[in-house]
Amino acid sequence: MAVQQLKGIREHMIIAGKAVEQSHGDRIPVYNPATGAVIAMQPEAGVEGVDQAVQAAHRALTDSAWTTMLPAQRERLLLKLADVVEVHADELASLETLNNGKLLRFSLGMEVASAVQWLRYMAGWATKVSGDVLNLSIPFPPNTGYHAYTRLEPVGVVAAIVPWNFPLLMAVWKIAPALAAGCTVVLKPAEETPLTAIRLAELVLEAGFPAGVVNVITGRGDSTGAALTAHPLVNKISFTGSTEVGYIIARQAAQDMKKVALELGGKSPVLIFDDCDVEQAIQGAANAIFFNQGQVCTAGSRLYIQSSIYEEVVQGIAKLADDMVLGDGFSESTQIAPLISARQQERVQKYIKIGQQEGRLLTKAQDRPEQGFFVRPTVFADVDIMARVSQEEIFGPVLVANRFESEAEAIRLANQTEYGLGASVWSNDLNRVNRLVNAIKAGTVWVNTHNMLDPHMPFGGFKQSGLGREHGKAAVESYLDTKSVCVAYAS
Ligand code: NAD
Repeated sequence: MAVQQLKGIREHMIIAGKAVEQSHGDRIPVYNPATGAVIAMQPEAGVEGVDQAVQAAHRALTDSAWTTMLPAQRERLLLKLADVVEVHADELASLETLNNGKLLRFSLGMEVASAVQWLRYMAGWATKVSGDVLNLSIPFPPNTGYHAYTRLEPVGVVAAIVPWNFPLLMAVWKIAPALAAGCTVVLKPAEETPLTAIRLAELVLEAGFPAGVVNVITGRGDSTGAALTAHPLVNKISFTGSTEVGYIIARQAAQDMKKVALELGGKSPVLIFDDCDVEQAIQGAANAIFFNQGQVCTAGSRLYIQSSIYEEVVQGIAKLADDMVLGDGFSESTQIAPLISARQQERVQKYIKIGQQEGRLLTKAQDRPEQGFFVRPTVFADVDIMARVSQEEIFGPVLVANRFESEAEAIRLANQTEYGLGASVWSNDLNRVNRLVNAIKAGTVWVNTHNMLDPHMPFGGFKQSGLGREHGKAAVESYLDTKSVCVAYAS
């Protein structure tokens, strides 16, 4: 599809319900990763734009129709937004593929479809949030009784900062529970991928949300992002991205006691035992790393295989990798689309060079398209657990593999990482599966599958992979504060 035919490219932000074009700093080029062409120039919100957006969110929270809106009305608005997003599914999916590079069938069938699913699921929580009635034991003064209960109140203005790998879906993962809880939001998409977030903010208005409830500002992380996290009227920061930036944000949040949720990096292990369905495991392990070009925080980037089937499995995955067709995300035959940026391409190529020193390269060096930010899927075997490519998050289609002899060794390898986001176990031995599920230190453990998510299933990291949980009841509660109410009466 020609870029000119695509609807929805915007070069402004949405603040207080209005398009704002003014840039406080150099405008930021937005690229089509399949060609490297500039498709939009985005404003830098800067300190001034951030302040306008946060003030708008604060007004919407304290002095608008939103302030006194009933839970059932918030539910209706979220359901309406889901419908509006669904009506614009083709447009949003095309924008996502143009801006992020990913396969159009995933933009449509996974990213936009999941955004709709999450909005509908979270809509239901608006009317289900409730506190507790408490039995107190306070014995004085004489002849006094107490009636006590908890109220769950919105935490306030939420700064939502999201990365470029699932731009629309991750925006919805933060906005939907925040709105169900009654908060207002300032969303900052990644500088690489602002387009679907801006369209989403327009659709939020079309669905009927009051101006200022959802604001979208654009800009670089260390300027606009930093100003947003430092703003005194922001009550909670919800961040997804690199662990490195996660530390910066956690320090900022600690300075003025903002609530903070961090969904960070990963180096998720895939453990394949010789009692599994080997064909299914080969395909599953390939999908676990190559889906979205490996730009997935839970990508199965470390593969450990029981010795007796080691060579069969690694060679099987390498063959699948070699057969994969690289191309534009809009083409139906494409299996591997471009990475997000020239910078990410360079970073992944650097790791592939390091991997050649640290392991046995199984995939063939084949051509890749001349234009665009492509990297071929790559598999290294016999990589030591302490090698850099085993320990550092690459965030590209690069798999490192090694063998294990015993269950105990598999557990040790799985847990020998600073991260703890996801893991998968491939086995048909029920006893073994249960032992491994208990022993693996990760926020999600999949069995005979990988990367499957659902709005009802909490998601987040152990160790350096983050703080807090998205999805499910846990996500809604993370946007609520508990107030205890204690009423004395003459008994
Ligand atoms: P990043 O962490 O730098 O950026 C993520 C978001 O944070 C972006 O919106 C960015 O503008 C913003 N940001 C950056 N610095 C900030 C600051 N000081 N204050 C506030 N906001 C700030 O990630 P990246 O540069 O896009 O990617 C680098 C690496 O991070 C990747 O190679 C990958 O390893 C990892 N990553 C992880 C995830 C994930 O889902 N866990 C997603 C994207 C990237």
